[in-house]
Amino acid sequence: MDITHIEHIGIAVKSIEEQLPYYEEILGLKCYNIETVEDQKVKTAFFKVGQTKIELLEPTSDDSTIAKFIENRGEGVHHIAYATKSVKEALKKAEEKGVQLIDKEPRKGAEGLNIAFLHPRSTGRVLTELCEHPEK
Ligand code: ZN
Repeated sequence: MDITHIEHIGIAVKSIEEQLPYYEEILGLKCYNIETVEDQKVKTAFFKVGQTKIELLEPTSDDSTIAKFIENRGEGVHHIAYATKSVKEALKKAEEKGVQLIDKEPRKGAEGLNIAFLHPRSTGRVLTELCEHPEK
């Protein structure tokens, strides 16, 4: 799949504002971007840790998948996102190997990345995102 690194780790939170002090004051990370992704009904906050990011995900609506995740499993790690050179190619390879896909085609995620999710049923219950920086 040409995975180069972990792009980010997504963490489901009830409130970004309530969690900010932990990330900024305790861990000493700096939140450099807060962005709402309308079609996913989430507000996201990003922190850089080397070349990997932490992405906090706060639901903006009760029918958001993040709201459902928190309801069922509580706050915590939601997904791991791997950077790959081509999401399209990676999806093709995964599908050929029988991996169940959530997204058959790449779509736009936060920060303008091309993203797609693999189904946790095929990934040992870890929701897995593939992403690609469009400029590369
Ligand atoms: Zn993500």
